[in-house]
Amino acid sequence: MSKVLIVAENYEGQLKGSTFNATSAAQEINNASGGGSFSFVVLGANSADHANTLAGYGADAVYVVENGDTERYTAQGWAPAVAAVAKEIGATHVVMSATTQGKDLLPRIAALLDAGMAADVLSIQAGDSGITYRRPMWAGNIIATVEITTSTHIVSVRPTEFNEAQAAGGASSIQNFGCPDGENKTSFVEFAASGGERPDLGEAKIVVSGGRGLKDKDNFWSVVTPLADKLGAAIGATRAAVDSGFAPNDLQIGQTGRVVAPDLYFAVAVSGAIQHLAGMTNSKCIVAINKDPDAPIFQVADYGLVADAFTAIPEICEKI
Ligand code: FAD
Repeated sequence: MSKVLIVAENYEGQLKGSTFNATSAAQEINNASGGGSFSFVVLGANSADHANTLAGYGADAVYVVENGDTERYTAQGWAPAVAAVAKEIGATHVVMSATTQGKDLLPRIAALLDAGMAADVLSIQAGDSGITYRRPMWAGNIIATVEITTSTHIVSVRPTEFNEAQAAGGASSIQNFGCPDGENKTSFVEFAASGGERPDLGEAKIVVSGGRGLKDKDNFWSVVTPLADKLGAAIGATRAAVDSGFAPNDLQIGQTGRVVAPDLYFAVAVSGAIQHLAGMTNSKCIVAINKDPDAPIFQVADYGLVADAFTAIPEICEKI
């Protein structure tokens, strides 16, 4: 029987939807283990409010860490606190989505618990000798099936591969968890979000992505921004656009960038290389605008417009 501890993603006081993708993964771990339970641990600003929300998801308990070192996110502050909760409750698995925070935090927890980790997990199966995890390796060129041989498993899951769990009703018990101060050798100074008011790429319902076809940095932003503003969308970019200096690295979508699955994905002057598709083909509706009718992006697009982006995008913006 498994006992899964889910780390709630609290991004500057907001409870992120990726927490509920991790919840589905925890339920799959319990199914693959032949039964089990899960709990949440929540840290950071507004934890008490988030605990009330999390209590409606069918967990055994919601642990709220109260400790001055954990008020603002630092991996060095949160990892010992989560590890302490995991030890205290005898967690068999610690699970979180493979978001920026999850990628930053979970390896430290694995080190503190001396536990094996499977990162960016795509699916979970029951194997002959326990659970196995499928995960991409070699920049997505192969999908490996891995087994963790330590008694505690640390698992980050790709949020786009697991549905968001829905509230189950009921109310889990909420327990404050005091953990020792003084383990944190760093302190929070400042949080400077790069995306401004835009939705986070990983959570956005609509993404507008630009490619190298937009020619330079000024053109990239002057074409992509008005459309993203009209649609309330996050902005993404291809690796070629990032490497050419049009957009910062954290906007890159694809095999070596972010993986997104929004309701609507606009690919503007994006050729549709396989490495880019690896990061966005799970989008529900893909719209491609490219002046080359043979661009591979049209093979995955639900709607394709063969047009020059510099004239087509302003026209689309005018009509929205
Ligand atoms: P291009 O391939 O140069 O395409 C530009 C497109 O714009 C063309 O289709 C052209 O017809 C169109 N265009 C030009 N002008 C206009 C116009 N005025 N109006 C409309 N359309 C126009 N790429 C990623 O994106 N993400 C990754 O994570 C990633 N990881 C990689 C990992 C590895 C190991 C490798 C080898 C490559 C990776 N790449 C990745 C790079 C990938 O192979 C492509 O080179 C890249 O995706 C191409 O980006 P692009 O579509 O912007 O540029």
